[in-house]
Amino acid sequence: MMETDNYKRLRDLMVQTQLVPRGIKDERVLAAMRKVPRHLFVPDFIRHSAYDDMALPIGDDQTISQPYMVAVMTELLELKGDERVLEVGTGSGYQAAVLGELAREVYTIERFASLAEAARNRLIDLGYQNVYAVVGDGTKGLEDKAPFDSIIITAAAPKIPDPLINQLKDGGIIVAPVGERFSQVLIKGKKEKGILAEEYHTPCVFVPLVGEYGWKG
Ligand code: SAM
Repeated sequence: MMETDNYKRLRDLMVQTQLVPRGIKDERVLAAMRKVPRHLFVPDFIRHSAYDDMALPIGDDQTISQPYMVAVMTELLELKGDERVLEVGTGSGYQAAVLGELAREVYTIERFASLAEAARNRLIDLGYQNVYAVVGDGTKGLEDKAPFDSIIITAAAPKIPDPLINQLKDGGIIVAPVGERFSQVLIKGKKEKGILAEEYHTPCVFVPLVGEYGWKG
């Protein structure tokens, strides 16, 4: 069997055993997770584990999130296809690629230049022309590209940064792990008349969101 067929089989298995049984229902999200080649977003030495049910190291003490966490956060964004999305925490670029399958335009910010550059090259190599990776402090958002229909923070925030709430359109959705440094709850906030109406979802553990409106180092 060709190597690519093998990875395709592992992706299908990941969806059938990790995502569907845990309640991921959005067919567009499931299709994106079946399509994006996660093994190309992890370091070579752990490629064999790319489709395992866990987060994996990607360098700079950072991680690519567990597939289920990517799926649940993406599903909570309720993307229909025409949105402009901001992701804070590019990491490997995998979540950005999944978003790129489901939205019109994706801006993703990473504080480590080395990770951002590697992610940008990967996304270009894979043909994602609607995903833009930039370096910076994502807690401040991306003022010159705002407002956004949806925002996703893929690092643990002590609270949702005010600049991100300001850069979200009214009616827009923001999804983020919020809480303590080593344990958080996934929050979905819908902006209504300038205020976030929040729903609490699954407990989770993310690496910290470090920046002006996040943790301080
Ligand atoms: N979404 C990523 C992926 O698909 O690989 C995984 C994200 S990883 C769990 C969290 C990332 O957030 C790390 O790469 C970290 O460097 C980044 N990060 C933390 N604070 C940040 C900030 N203020 N601005 C931008 N990125 C930040």
